[in-house]
Amino acid sequence: MRFAQVIVDVSAYPVDRPFDYLIPEDWEELIDIGCRVKVPFGPRNVLGFVVGIVAESDVPVEKIKPISEILDLESILTEEMLSLAKWLKHQTICYEIDALQVMLPGALRAKYEKYAVLLGEVPQLPQMLQPYFEKAKKVNLAQFEKANLLKPLKRAVKDGLVNIENEVKQKGQVKQVRKVQIYSREQIEEVIGQMGKRAPKQLALMEWMQDHAGAIVLPEQIYEAVQVTSSVLNSVIEKGAAAYIQEEVYRDPFTKEVVKTDFLQLTDEQDKALKKITEAIDEKRQETFLLHGITGSGKTEVYLQAIQRTIADGKEAIVLVPEISLTPQMTERFKSRFGDEVAVMHSGLSVGEKYDEWRKVQQGKVKVVVGARSAVFAPFKNLGLLILDEEHESTYKQEDSPRYHARDVAIWRGNYYNCPVVLGSATPALESFARAKKGVYTLLTLSQRAKNQALPTVQIIDMREQLQAGNRSMFSEPLMEALRDRLDKKEQTVLFLNRRGYSSFVLCRDCGTTVQCPNCDISLTYHRYQEKLKCHYCGHDEYIPETCPECLSENIRYFGTGTQKVEEEIHKLFPEARVMRMDVDTTKQKGAHEKMLDAFGRGEADILLGTQMIAKGLDFPNITLVGVLSADTALHLPDYRAAEKTFQLMTQVSGRAGRHNKLGEVYIQTYTPEHYAIQLSKDQHYTPFYEREMHTRHIAGYPPYYYIALIQVSHEDVMFAAEYAGRVAEYLRSNLSFNVSVIGPTTASIARLQNRYRYQCLIKYKVEPNLIPVLLQLIKLYRSEWIKKGIVLTVDLDPTMI
Ligand code: ADP
Ligand code: ZN
Ligand code: ZN
Repeated sequence: MRFAQVIVDVSAYPVDRPFDYLIPEDWEELIDIGCRVKVPFGPRNVLGFVVGIVAESDVPVEKIKPISEILDLESILTEEMLSLAKWLKHQTICYEIDALQVMLPGALRAKYEKYAVLLGEVPQLPQMLQPYFEKAKKVNLAQFEKANLLKPLKRAVKDGLVNIENEVKQKGQVKQVRKVQIYSREQIEEVIGQMGKRAPKQLALMEWMQDHAGAIVLPEQIYEAVQVTSSVLNSVIEKGAAAYIQEEVYRDPFTKEVVKTDFLQLTDEQDKALKKITEAIDEKRQETFLLHGITGSGKTEVYLQAIQRTIADGKEAIVLVPEISLTPQMTERFKSRFGDEVAVMHSGLSVGEKYDEWRKVQQGKVKVVVGARSAVFAPFKNLGLLILDEEHESTYKQEDSPRYHARDVAIWRGNYYNCPVVLGSATPALESFARAKKGVYTLLTLSQRAKNQALPTVQIIDMREQLQAGNRSMFSEPLMEALRDRLDKKEQTVLFLNRRGYSSFVLCRDCGTTVQCPNCDISLTYHRYQEKLKCHYCGHDEYIPETCPECLSENIRYFGTGTQKVEEEIHKLFPEARVMRMDVDTTKQKGAHEKMLDAFGRGEADILLGTQMIAKGLDFPNITLVGVLSADTALHLPDYRAAEKTFQLMTQVSGRAGRHNKLGEVYIQTYTPEHYAIQLSKDQHYTPFYEREMHTRHIAGYPPYYYIALIQVSHEDVMFAAEYAGRVAEYLRSNLSFNVSVIGPTTASIARLQNRYRYQCLIKYKVEPNLIPVLLQLIKLYRSEWIKKGIVLTVDLDPTMI
């Protein structure tokens, strides 16, 4: 008898451990470590992952239930992935099942469908439900949802007539095509020998096949080459000269034609950096490099050549980029260097496309993956290099369980495969640069632009002075002048609106009320095209009220500096300018972003106006002016990284100008021109900024000097939420050491979200060996008792927003 140790998909169990299941004798050869199975857990069937197979179990045999179904005939998780999941579980305090699922493409994650199962007799049911159960005892819940019958169904459940059951649904369809496998010359010869000379078409076909012995071809190729019909091909196959086979095909999301590019002659600095990296590759040594290079210094070329080395060694490489659907130019550079060896993984792909890209990696069909955060889990088995471009970006941290940082996972995998990890940035995260200074990472520096272009000149414009001079527009005089100049010269401009912490909302001019989301403590945002107000957190939308909901005044209108409003103002100021607006509204459709960028590259617009999403990766020769409309909007958010993020963004944005032959100019508008984050971004002075910001963090007691952890508690009832947050704080204070500070409970920065009230406690510490055990104990308490009361508790050991 053999038993499978299974991690089950149940995220509300006090203990997170594998459970033993009996492997039915017939399946002993089929079930492997890393396969998914269905197993009974309590009254239902759930999905599980086999993490071990043993000959003995501690549980008495009669109590062990058998596995009910096998979902995979080949392992989908390697041994490496299973140990990575264990590490993630401890590192981020999450359920092991969450860690396992995060490594898989959406198509392979647990999906459950709900069914209503009839327990009683049809006539006992309310009239409107009866037709549904006449033919089947089990009906998909979606049908009742569609017909708006959930309420009567719920009553039937209460009356014990119907039961709701979850069923694991299996996705991840491999797409296949039928091809023809042509056998060997000798084999075909033999078939011909047995045939005589009666069927000239079949003979012609087999002669052609002899010239293509061993090949795998599409039937259509044969029809065309030999001018025969499918019946001729079928007869030849029947006689044994060839066979039909099913071959896997991939939906290729990257349809654009790419031109092959060659290696560039490296600059001295690039060459030096590459040598250090290839040394580590050659010596099969884990080493983490921080490649600090100013914008346009040619970091990407270093990545490309390091990857080339890795592939030449017969190994594989992963390249992470912050949000790949926003950086099509970057993807193209990898595709044009490595062609079909590259798989692309990002959120813009359909579930099927994502699955196919993942399969290509799993089957060893590609050597390089370029992708967003989750691509760090690409199932390569012989990794030789991991790269994080723009390593400071906050998108590398996942905000749901498991709350992992891609940088940590990359380094873990680097250790597993003894291979280097390269972190690249013009503005490294403070903690990364601190680690490089301490020698934990190896610092590599590119201080010059690759083509020796000058950095753009940067002007900081004090908007307070503009206001005093009577300019109420969102464009300062100097920026307007520069814009006019570019329009005359037919050069291009990028205008950047820092929308973090900004939005256009509807405001009553009489009483000052803004229209709020009924579910969240957040003002609704005005969306011009649909003439609607929307909540960006829960998706609620409504029409704009004609009168103020508070004082009934009719003097209610929209206010603020959304991209739409800027666009209108440009039209007023420069009626002849062709403006392209790029924000969440105009880029919703798949591929829209890429299309717009291509059009801008072809010169179809004079001005590209956009939010954060245009800050990265843009590289066009005709952009000579960059304007930042409001640099300081994010400086006053409740986020200890506010200054760092502002500095990073300003540096990024400035880097878009003058990347080629023409000199670039940048105008940064701000109400706080004296702030060091803005002053120091002017000349891309990273080191002075680093020192200044480290000092601030030191005084305020924030990372990288201290570690922080954030515990959040939410409930629909504000009293409940507050009470349990209080219990958390008390628990932490009485169990952690004296030199650990526990701040709170306080309300979260958005106090109510999707109708749940949110409180939080912040832990600041330098060393606290007890932290994890104490938190685990707290989580156990939560999972075994509080969860039943509707409390939701989350723990984040490396929070980005506070
Ligand atoms: P970064 O990623 O550091 O911002 P890029 O890799 O985008 O910089 O390089 C900036 C520009 O310089 C690109 O147009 C790139 O093709 C070019 N470039 C990079 N390295 C070289 C080189 N060694 N010789 C000539 N051009 C280069
Ligand atoms: Zn009002
Ligand atoms: Zn909302």
